[in-house]
Amino acid sequence: MNELQDGRWTRRAFMQSSAGALAAGATAQFVGNAPLLAEDKMGQKNRLPVAIASANGIKTVEKAMTLLGQKADPLDAVIAGVNIVEDDPDDHSVGLGGLPNEDGVVELDSCCMHGPTHKAGAVAAIRNIRHPSRVARLVMQRTDHVLLVGEGALRFAKAHGFKEENLLTDKARKIWLHWKETHSAHDDWVAPEEDGAQKAAKAPQAFERTWGTINCCAVDASSNVAGVTTTSGLAYKIPGRVGDSPIIGAGLYVDNEVGAAGSTGRGESNLQNCSSFLIVELMRAGKSPEQACLETLRRVADHTEPRLRDKDGRADFGLKFYAVAKDGRYGSASLWSGAKFAVHDGTKARLEDCAYLYKR
Ligand code: ASP
Repeated sequence: MNELQDGRWTRRAFMQSSAGALAAGATAQFVGNAPLLAEDKMGQKNRLPVAIASANGIKTVEKAMTLLGQKADPLDAVIAGVNIVEDDPDDHSVGLGGLPNEDGVVELDSCCMHGPTHKAGAVAAIRNIRHPSRVARLVMQRTDHVLLVGEGALRFAKAHGFKEENLLTDKARKIWLHWKETHSAHDDWVAPEEDGAQKAAKAPQAFERTWGTINCCAVDASSNVAGVTTTSGLAYKIPGRVGDSPIIGAGLYVDNEVGAAGSTGRGESNLQNCSSFLIVELMRAGKSPEQACLETLRRVADHTEPRLRDKDGRADFGLKFYAVAKDGRYGSASLWSGAKFAVHDGTKARLEDCAYLYKR
């Protein structure tokens, strides 16, 4: 077993990694990583253009590839792709129909990054705007800032002609109301008798929290890279909570010299590890996209506090990474087995299995 396979970083392995090189104050010394390179699966076929996304992004990668085929800018292509999911009232993790915060208000996070200019834009905790990804692009293009939040983000969107609308669909409201009435026996909300929820509410239980997001990254035929992440974030969150999705380096990172990476899942664990930045740096150091995603999941797992581990010590939550290299190689990894991601590499849009750390 080498120093990395057991998921623990020895000091020597860490100092040989790109993160170690950064910690040691080195610049551009991402070479000489033989132990890392040795793990890579080489020879994966690669084509350009290519688009990858989270599993809810089949239509997204299809749209992005159509636009890339028409020579669209890769950022415009991925944003048009995720707009389909932002518009979908049945996807309760993004845009219209997203699950709300604990007060029943939908708050959205998004960021985007454009490889050729290395510019980025983001909005966090924005309300009433169904396409936060488009607002993020405008923050990038029409301000000298990277991130606008809350009320300021909404005012900026309205200044650019975005219309406010209530994003809480009736279906999402009912899901939220069920949560409100059943997640605690220590408040005054009571579920209707007929669905058995009153009984359930009496038993102390861990309520299943819902995450969900869409991330899409693409490389065009000229090897230019872009990405976007957009979400309504963690369901029933404390109002004002910002996840990883609008944070450059966490929910998304793009470097036109290397590739792009993005994330869905437990945002707090991603924020604590700057995972997308790390994935891109590991690819720069020679890791394949899949290996870079797996290595970063090991880092997250190692840093996970006891409260969030199962009885076997494994990180007990969902987290997935998606990565594409500028030469068209792509990959994805999930903490837990059974996950999929969407990809289109010129043949057809399809779901593929994510690599994983833990088998269910
Ligand atoms: N990462 C998102 C967040 O933490 C949610 C998700 O992807 O499921 O807000």
